[in-house]
Amino acid sequence: MPKSYIILGGGISGLSLAWQLQKDSDAKVTLVEQAPRLGGWIETLHKNGFLFDRGPRSCRSRGSGLATLQLIEELGLEAEVIPASPAARRRYLYLDKRLQAMPNSLPGLLFSPVTNGLFKALWQDIRTRGGPGRDESVADFAERRMGRAFAERFFDPLVTGIFAGDMHKLSLRACFPFLAEWEEQHGGIVRALFKKKKRPSDLSPFIQQMLKTSIFSFRNGMETLPQRLAERLNVDILLGEAVEALHADRGSVRLSSGRTLDADHIFSTLPAHSLQKLLPFSATLNQIPYASTAVVNLGYRKRILKKEGFGYLIPSSEREQVLGVVFDSSAFPQQGTDETRLTVMLGDSRIPDFGAWSKEKFLSIAQEALMRHLGIDQTPDLAEIKIAPRAIPQYLVGHLDRLRTMEQEARRYPKLTLLGSSFYGVSVNDCIARSSHLL
Ligand SMILES: Cc1cc2nc3c(=O)[nH]c(=O)nc-3n(C[C@H](O)[C@H](O)[C@H](O)COP(=O)(O)OP(=O)(O)OC[C@H]3O[C@@H](n4cnc5c(N)ncnc54)[C@H](O)[C@@H]3O)c2cc1C
Repeated sequence: MPKSYIILGGGISGLSLAWQLQKDSDAKVTLVEQAPRLGGWIETLHKNGFLFDRGPRSCRSRGSGLATLQLIEELGLEAEVIPASPAARRRYLYLDKRLQAMPNSLPGLLFSPVTNGLFKALWQDIRTRGGPGRDESVADFAERRMGRAFAERFFDPLVTGIFAGDMHKLSLRACFPFLAEWEEQHGGIVRALFKKKKRPSDLSPFIQQMLKTSIFSFRNGMETLPQRLAERLNVDILLGEAVEALHADRGSVRLSSGRTLDADHIFSTLPAHSLQKLLPFSATLNQIPYASTAVVNLGYRKRILKKEGFGYLIPSSEREQVLGVVFDSSAFPQQGTDETRLTVMLGDSRIPDFGAWSKEKFLSIAQEALMRHLGIDQTPDLAEIKIAPRAIPQYLVGHLDRLRTMEQEARRYPKLTLLGSSFYGVSVNDCIARSSHLL
């Protein structure tokens, strides 16, 4: 008996779910996307000879990266995957008004001013037993286990780099579940790091090879992945059609064109802020705020970086408007030749009147920061600015409890399943893993 499905949203969550559903040859799948293109936040711009990723630019190989690597294999995309260059192992912090390399060797750890106080922090972690037995903020966890200075120096930029958010507000259990698990199962971060990790034994040669690299992208940019999915999907894709009404009880949606679709089951990958207009349990969905970001891509036709590496993050204590800078051409030199590509990230967590800023203002602040931080005063040959409002969901303390409430409320609608970055992990890997393991 063929089953019919509607998928709402054509970002990576919706596309990878469609890929899983079409493995059942009897399934009839329709995917609805309001934009004229697929991919959601994943977008690669090719312009004037430069490749700019305007959303995500890389994935991690480990953890939930396994699902992404398996999808890449299923799509036959292995030859398009590029590992980050060895130089990308070098990461920096903009600390005390200057760029400082994060040490990646033992002598570096011992003598670098960046890791000043590291051993005290590690010792505190070893001595600290058990957690509070409830959710807490990333800042509370980090301060409790490693002290305030360490939290501000390392955890704050980590949260900035992934969530463009505030470590005092974000939930440890929802944002970094592995840290909560390390504390509960192994008694702390240091103890967990010394435990031997079990790796699945039946991995393909491609995946084994990829696990040797920490991060990867694609020769032609991240959009390679949604584009290949779109090419290989044999499902009905409706572009430029917004879902305007969702009757979850009868498995039916009304689209902006006035058309109505019915199915045995509806999967929503819409962001919570879109979904709350369509579902009766909007009170829970309303409680997920979002960080807005501005992505400033800059291209120069010569090599101008004095230091190679992945880029740098800036702790909040530096009181800068910029969140961090990625050295794209250094991390992925395979995406261009004899050039420099940089991405400056800004966000509303550090710019209170973010919504009032023009693209020109974001560009001038980005260039001014590059001048101060890296001494770059050249005018870029190409500059592109993408303002991404409500881009990254913020899993606040208590997020997992709110998810349980939402799931209970959704149980009244057996024909509806909710997924997507608003709920179960924000990285591309998390989105793909959720869609892959749902069935
Ligand atoms: C600037 C930026 C940088 C990032 N960097 C990284 C990174 O380096 N690595 C990483 O792993 N992750 C990164 N992320 C996170 C990651 O890209 C996203 O979390 C992920 O792409 C979200 O995928 P999704 O399909 O769940 O949601 P989305 O991409 O938001 O897709 C949802 C889709 O639903 C559509 N939609 C919304 N409302 C309706 C409606 N009513 N009707 C029909 N369609 C609708 C939207 O148009 C959209 O296409 C980054 C995100 C941003 C914004």
